Amino acid sequence: MTAAGESLGPGSISVVVPVHDEERSVALLFEELQAALQPLGRNWEVIYVDDGSTDGSFSALTRLHALAEEVSVVRLRRNFGKAAALMAGFVQARGDVVVTIDGDLQDDPAEIPRLLAKLEEGFDLVSGWKTRRQDSWRRRTLSKIFNFTASRMSGLRLHDMNCGFKAYRVEVVRGLRLYGELHRFIPVLAHYRGYRIAEIPVNHRPRSHGRSRYGVERYLRGFFDLLSVSFLGRYGHRPLHLFGGLGLFLGLGGTGVLIYLTSLKIAGAAIGQRPLLILGVLLVVVGIQLFSLGLLSEMIISHHEERADERGRVELRVEEILQ
Ligand code: UDP
Ligand code: MG
Repeated sequence: MTAAGESLGPGSISVVVPVHDEERSVALLFEELQAALQPLGRNWEVIYVDDGSTDGSFSALTRLHALAEEVSVVRLRRNFGKAAALMAGFVQARGDVVVTIDGDLQDDPAEIPRLLAKLEEGFDLVSGWKTRRQDSWRRRTLSKIFNFTASRMSGLRLHDMNCGFKAYRVEVVRGLRLYGELHRFIPVLAHYRGYRIAEIPVNHRPRSHGRSRYGVERYLRGFFDLLSVSFLGRYGHRPLHLFGGLGLFLGLGGTGVLIYLTSLKIAGAAIGQRPLLILGVLLVVVGIQLFSLGLLSEMIISHHEERADERGRVELRVEEILQ
C-alpha cells in the first residue's frame, strides 16, 4: 500500500463505501467491485468507512483488509451518520476519480464503468438515478415529492438527489463540507459551486441482508436541510439581498399606510381606533428589524471572509488556468 496522501496515478479510482452494520455484505461487495474495476486497467482502491457498526462489520473488514491490498478501512469512533462517513472516506481518497457506493449491495458495481464514461464526457459529478427502485411504495412516493421540491428549489433538475451511487472528479469532494444529513444534497451543493452535474439511470437491487437505517421520517427532516442548503447556496454570500429586500418591502408598505392615515388625520378624521394603524406600525417595525438582520449578517460574513484562507477559497472556484 502506498502512503496516505500519495496519488494513485492518472485515471485512478477510489471507491468509498459507508458501512453501518453490513457484516454480510462487505466481502461480497468487494468481489463485485473487483470484477468491475479490474478490467478497466487503472489503479484503484476501496475505502470502507465503518460508521460505528455494532455487528461484525469491522472484523469482516479487517479480514478483507488482510486479504486484499486494494482495501483500506477507516473506523469511526461511533455512529456519526452517512455524511460524516463519506467525509472520512473522501479525506483518505487518493484516486483522480471518487466513486461512492452503498455498502448494502443495493447498488450494482457493474454500473461503475458507465458512471465513469459519463464523467469523461466532461462532467464533474455523475449521479445515479434508481429508475426501478427496490423499496416500498411509500418511500418511493415520498422520495418523488422530495426530489421534485428539491429540484425546484435549487434549480438543479435531478430525479434522484439522494442516490448513494455517484462518481466525482476528486476536486469536487475536496471542496465538500458535509455534516448532519447533508449527504442528500451533494448534487445541489456541488451545483452551487459551479460544477457540471449529470444523472444516469442505474440498476437498483432489493436489500438482501441487514436492514435500512432510514425510515420515512428522513424526508420530513430533509426539508429543513433543503431550506438551509438552498438559503445558504443563494443568499449565503449576500444575505442583505434577502433580508434587506424583504425588510424594505414591508417597511415601505407600512410607511405608505402611515402616510395615508396621517393625511386622514390632517383632514380631521379620527384614526386612533383603526386596525390599519396597528398594521402600519407593525410593518414598519418588522421592516426595520429585517433590514438590520440583513446588515448584521453582512457584518458576520465580511468578518469571516477576511479571516478565511483566500487562496484556498479562490482555488475552489477556478476551473482552469492557462499559463
Ligand atoms: N450508513 C452509514 N451510516 C449510517 C446509516 C447508513 O454509513 O448512520 C450506510 C449504510 O451502511 C449503507 C448506506 O449508508 O451502506 C445507505 O444506508 P441504507 O441502506 O440504510 O439507506 P437506504 O438505502 O435505505 O436509503
Ligand atoms: Mg440501502
